[in-house]
Amino acid sequence: MKKTLALVLAAMMVSSLAACGGSKAESSSAAASETASEAASASSEAAPAADASDITVGACIYKFDDTFMTGVRNNMTEAAKTLGATLEIVDSQNKQPTQNEQVDTYITKGVNALAVNPVDLTAAGPIIDKAMAEDLPIVFLNRQPSDADMAKYDKTWYVGARAEESGTMSGEIIADYFKEHTDADKNGDGKIQYVMLQGEPGHQDATLRTEYSIKAIESAGFGADKLAADTAMWDKVKATDLMKTFIAANGLDKIEAVLANNDDMALGAIEALKAEGYNTGDATKYIPVVGVDATAPALAAMKDGSLLGTVLNDGKNQGIATINIAVAAAQGKEINKDNVGFEVTDGKYVWIPYVKVTAENYEEFAS
Ligand code: BGC
Repeated sequence: MKKTLALVLAAMMVSSLAACGGSKAESSSAAASETASEAASASSEAAPAADASDITVGACIYKFDDTFMTGVRNNMTEAAKTLGATLEIVDSQNKQPTQNEQVDTYITKGVNALAVNPVDLTAAGPIIDKAMAEDLPIVFLNRQPSDADMAKYDKTWYVGARAEESGTMSGEIIADYFKEHTDADKNGDGKIQYVMLQGEPGHQDATLRTEYSIKAIESAGFGADKLAADTAMWDKVKATDLMKTFIAANGLDKIEAVLANNDDMALGAIEALKAEGYNTGDATKYIPVVGVDATAPALAAMKDGSLLGTVLNDGKNQGIATINIAVAAAQGKEINKDNVGFEVTDGKYVWIPYVKVTAENYEEFAS
């Protein structure tokens, strides 16, 4: 009787996790029933896992005022709801000392797992020490701690996307445009004169997207000439100001492409271009701009033709994976695909794939 109940409960838990893994992370029903019977036979030896409804996850987001992280945050909330777990989620307001205090408060309150999007990556180490002292599972997201920090504690996981991949895809979008539009090489020198709007210094996505986008342009057979590059801190308004500076320093007829480490900055740059009559529909006044994230405003800008392309940074599955891991770990389950709905690399990492978004497929991504 007990065994049957455990089997049913385990099957229910696995299927709800699989359901919220989305299309890219489906776990087969065969795998689910296998796990269910394992759980049933284990139940005679070990105590059954805590119910998800008994779990509270304490989450900190580096700042709420970030377009991409807002999407991730909303999906974390949805995922917790789907599992029936409680999620507390706070705004670290871009201040590491604030986030450290928030983690302390969660620990004092007795949450069952932490989910942390660090403000400053170097602070991940001390946060892991705190979690370890309490034997509390901790899932980092979006900002990847160092390998050394990740290795310190076996209940540490990271959910993110491989930044190199997004860099390569954005560079390929620009290279493909230049292959199809030979007149985009305004001075006909075979090189792409570009400006780069970068994310926050020290963030893996800023460093690697910058590097790999240019590598992709060069691998496609173009030279790449950097006219200017600087950080606009992932921010649209800062990007408009920075792009205005780039335009004033270089002249619009010298700039052949704009690469931005995220969509908010791409859209900020487009504002500056529009102020000069560019990217508003006149084919003679157009500079290709590429971003990363595939936010709703970016998809709208692709529709109106002001943004050439972007790369889907899949905040939905990043949010779901974070919560699935935090809850499963708090339940004492092994973190693997059957239990969390996503492939787990080296026992610690969930990598959500990026997807190239161009004129051909952007409509598929509008929600
Ligand atoms: C996103 C940015 C976001 C940043 C926050 C990146 O992965 O592309 O839009 O601002 O994460 O850490």
